Amino acid sequence: METFENLNLTSPLQNAIEDLGFTHPTPIQLKAFPVIRSGKNVIGISQTGTGKTLAFTLPLLQDLGFTKQLTPRILILVPTRELVIQIVEQVKNFSKYMNLRIQGIYGGTNINTQKKAVREGVDVIVATPGRLYDIVIDGSLKLKTIKKVVIDEVDVMLDLGFRFQLNNLFELLPSSRQNIMFSATMTEEIDELIQDFFIAPETISIAVSGTPLDNISQAKYGVKNFYTKINLLVHLLKDKESYKKVLIFVSGKRNADRIFEKLDEDFNGELGVIHSNKTQNYRFKAIEKFEEGTSRLLLSTDVMARGLDLNQISHVINFNVPAFPENYMHRIGRTGRAEQEGSSILLFTAKEREFVEAIETLMVHEISEIEIPEEVEISKQLTPDERPDDYVYKNPNRNLKLQEGGASFHEKKAKNQKTNQGGKYRRELAKKYKKPKSRGGKKKK
Ligand code: ADP
Ligand code: MG
Repeated sequence: METFENLNLTSPLQNAIEDLGFTHPTPIQLKAFPVIRSGKNVIGISQTGTGKTLAFTLPLLQDLGFTKQLTPRILILVPTRELVIQIVEQVKNFSKYMNLRIQGIYGGTNINTQKKAVREGVDVIVATPGRLYDIVIDGSLKLKTIKKVVIDEVDVMLDLGFRFQLNNLFELLPSSRQNIMFSATMTEEIDELIQDFFIAPETISIAVSGTPLDNISQAKYGVKNFYTKINLLVHLLKDKESYKKVLIFVSGKRNADRIFEKLDEDFNGELGVIHSNKTQNYRFKAIEKFEEGTSRLLLSTDVMARGLDLNQISHVINFNVPAFPENYMHRIGRTGRAEQEGSSILLFTAKEREFVEAIETLMVHEISEIEIPEEVEISKQLTPDERPDDYVYKNPNRNLKLQEGGASFHEKKAKNQKTNQGGKYRRELAKKYKKPKSRGGKKKK
C-alpha cells in the first residue's frame, strides 16, 4: 500500500501530514498528485469524504516556493462561506511549517477587513465567487498573478447558479493558468462548463464502488422510445404493493417536467418532482412529502438527489441511462441502504445502449434484461429529440431507410455490439452535449 512517503513530499508537508496522523493517501489523493503537478487541466471526481481538499492542496503546496510577491498565486473557489472557512482551516493545517499567507474571502462579513488583509500580501485565496468579484472590481485585489485555479464542489457551484459569476471571474484571470476542478459527481452542467472553458482536461475519477451492493436487485428493459418508457413506467407503478417508495431519476429539468406531466395523469397527488428550476421551498416540500410517505413517487435529476439522505426506498428507477457510469452507482445506492432489500430498474433505448454497456463494464456485471410485458402499449409518438433531423427529409435515401424501419430497436442492438464502445462512448457524449449549441445558438433549457 502506498504511503505519503512514496510521494516524496517536501519535509514541511511531510511533517504536517504526520502531525495530523495521516499515514496513507486516499485513492483520489494518490491519483491527483502527479496529474496536478504536471500542470494539466484536471477534473477530479470522488465521493464526499474521500479527502479531496488534500488531493488538490498537496500537489499545489509541494510546488509552491516562497515569495515576497504581494499578489496571490493560487485561487480556490468554493460555493459557500462555510466551505471557505473550512478549507482555509485545512490549508493552514497542511502548511503549518511553511511560510504561507492564506486569506478567506466570503460575503456576509465586513468587506473592508478582507480588502485590508489582501493588500498586505497573500499567496492563497479561498473565496466564494460573488465577494471575490466585488473585491477585484474595486481594485483591492489583482488576479493577474494567479497561476492555479481550483474550483471545489463544482457540481454544487453550478447547481446554485454560480455559472454566470464564474464566467465573469474567468475573464479577470490570466488565460495561461492551470484549472483544477473537484466534484463528488459528474454532471451535464460540469461537462458543458468544461467544453466551454477548459482545454483538454484530464479526468481522474474514483468509482463510488465498482461492485453494487448485494442486496440491490438490478433489472433493465430495452424500450423503443420516450412515450413507451412512460407507458411501461405507468404499468409498473400501478403495482402499489411492490412499488412502495420509488425514486425516479431523469436527465435534465425539461425532461423532468415532461415526465411529471405525463405521470401526473395517473398518479396525481402521489407524485413529486425536484430539479434546480424549482424553488428551494418547493423542493423542500416535495422531499418532505416523499419522506413521510404522503407521496409515493419522487422524480429527480441527479444533482438534486445527491445530497439527500432518503430512507427505505423500495425502488430506484432510471428513466434514462446516465451518460457517466459512476452516476448510475450514485443513483442505485439510494436504495438497499442499511441492510434493506432494494431494487433498481433501468429503462434504455437503442441510443442509450452504449451507456448501459459502460455501466456494466464499470460494475463487471451484466444487468439482467426483462422483456416488456405484453400489456404495455408500444407508442409511435416521438418527442422532438427523437424525430429525425431536418436534413433527413431533404435526403431521400436517408428518409427511405428510416421508413423501412432502419432504426428498429433490435437492429441497432446487434450493430452496437460490434462497435468498440470506449472511443465511441466519448464521441457520443461530445455529440450529445454539443447538439443544442449547434441549433442556431438556441438554448434548449
Ligand atoms: P471531501 O472534500 O472529499 O468531502 P475532505 O477533504 O473534506 O473530503 O476530507 C474528509 C476528511 O478526511 C477530513 O476530516 C480530512 O481531514 C480527512 N482526511 C483527508 N485525507 C486523509 C488521509 N489521507 N488520511 C486520513 N484522513 C484524511
Ligand atoms: Mg470537499
